[in-house]
Amino acid sequence: MPDTSISPVPPLTSLADDEVLFRDSVYDFAVREVTPLVAEMDEHGAMAPELLPKLFDLGVMGIEVPESYGGANASFFHAVLAVEALSRVDPSVGVLVDVQNTLVINALLRWGSEAIHARYLPALTTTTIGAYALSEAGSGSDAFALTTRAAEDGDTFVLNGRKLWITNGNEADLFIVFATVNPSAGYRGITAFLVERGAGGFAVGKKEDKLGIRASSTCELLFEGCRVPRSQVLGEVGKGYKVAIETLNEGRIGIGAQMIGLAQGALDHTIRYVKERRQFGKAIADFQAVQHQVARAATDLEAARLLVYNAARLRDAGAPFLNEAAMCKLFSSEVAERIASLAVNLFGGYGFVKDYPVEKLYRDAKIGQIYEGTSNLQLETIAKQILG
Ligand SMILES: Cc1cc2nc3c(=O)[nH]c(=O)nc-3n(C[C@H](O)[C@H](O)[C@H](O)COP(=O)(O)OP(=O)(O)OC[C@H]3O[C@@H](n4cnc5c(N)ncnc54)[C@H](O)[C@@H]3O)c2cc1C
Repeated sequence: MPDTSISPVPPLTSLADDEVLFRDSVYDFAVREVTPLVAEMDEHGAMAPELLPKLFDLGVMGIEVPESYGGANASFFHAVLAVEALSRVDPSVGVLVDVQNTLVINALLRWGSEAIHARYLPALTTTTIGAYALSEAGSGSDAFALTTRAAEDGDTFVLNGRKLWITNGNEADLFIVFATVNPSAGYRGITAFLVERGAGGFAVGKKEDKLGIRASSTCELLFEGCRVPRSQVLGEVGKGYKVAIETLNEGRIGIGAQMIGLAQGALDHTIRYVKERRQFGKAIADFQAVQHQVARAATDLEAARLLVYNAARLRDAGAPFLNEAAMCKLFSSEVAERIASLAVNLFGGYGFVKDYPVEKLYRDAKIGQIYEGTSNLQLETIAKQILG
């Protein structure tokens, strides 16, 4: 007999009713509205503009924003569910929503003044897309070696420099830009600024032509004497490194969600295909070798999902999650690549051509091991935690 005096701890994968409803409604939307656009958006390397207002209407662009500012007042876990559900259909749409919620809104909620909240949060939940600009040509993994300069001039800062690889650069109207107010102070000079599209001296430059997540825009940003009022500093002057570290630690869980969504999408296609495709007089799903490959993929995915969900639950509970976030991103990006690769293999020649969906997912998977900290950098974080 079970001991009824012990209150049961829910399983890690168990979701509350509202979470199930939310996830399913986002996935239904993705199937209905995104699926017909996926191949064309990939081919043209552009997000379909008509999708953007629909994402706002769906309520996934301001998930953690309080209701008083027009948001859904939901949890970080809800953001993870949304990114996973969208990425199951298109990881490019997944990352657009991910950057909006887990980086931009997350940073604003934590570090923004009341005036900044009132100015930007209502817009971010209804029309405005955000971008997060840390990386530069010479500073990626070593992000705080950035050289974009913010020179103080009375009550403004004058920004000069270039950012590279900025997701949502094409669609965004609000940019969180990291620049240094004092290069000799090292990371203690780094400051986060809110820059609006259209600000004088600021331009969005070249859009990258990429291997994967091609519909997600990745752009250069150019600052030439761009004046930003002091009131647009996010957090404190010289505390930009904290803004960056803290948001990226959480954002990483969002990339884990993108990767498990992608892996689930690849597995969905694979399961359907191996039951349909016949060779040697039977479905290829009847071969034990194929069954075992699919079983291993499903097991990998379950493990990755547990890591992602656990990291997100820890974050929402206010418990430490640094190690878990690094582990979930490291592992889920490897799992996504493995499962997408298996999908290509099991589709045979059809897996290698663009008429079928899995070659795209194989290309899309690669980014998970690169952005928001490469796999080597995740291993560094984990090793530091474990070895001290
Ligand atoms: C599609 C895309 C979207 C992106 N979106 C954004 C965005 O929105 N905002 C933003 O700010 N940035 C963004 N980035 C930038 C991204 O975060 C960086 O590309 C990433 O951090 C790696 O930096 P890097 O490209 O300079 O590579 P590098 O840092 O030069 O790394 C090259 C290789 O060296 C390895 N390496 C480096 N240092 C170490 C070390 N100490 N130990 C072991 N190995 C090491 C890395 O693991 C990697 O394999 C994006 C990039 C891409 C491709």
